[in-house]
Amino acid sequence: MNEADIRRLCRCGACRGRIGRRINLVSLGRKATWEYPSAGNVLTGASGEAVAVVCDGCIDDKRDIVEAVEFREGAPVYHPVDELEKIPETVPG
Ligand SMILES: [Zn+2]
Repeated sequence: MNEADIRRLCRCGACRGRIGRRINLVSLGRKATWEYPSAGNVLTGASGEAVAVVCDGCIDDKRDIVEAVEFREGAPVYHPVDELEKIPETVPG
């Protein structure tokens, strides 16, 4: 899925509105139960963190994110953040 597809197909993980000019991918501190997309942390070696696509307005307003996104066979599938297992915070070093 490329940027144009994300903009065309995905909704915001906070307000469920349209994604604007910028695409903001936010890692959620929850485990992704799917393959793509997910975030990792090069410092802790953690991987498989769920991410959300969020619109600029919600980034500016720091609105709570309610949905993580999975890209499955070219289409977005949404997962309620509350249903995903929390990743314990780890301090590197
Ligand atoms: Zn939004």
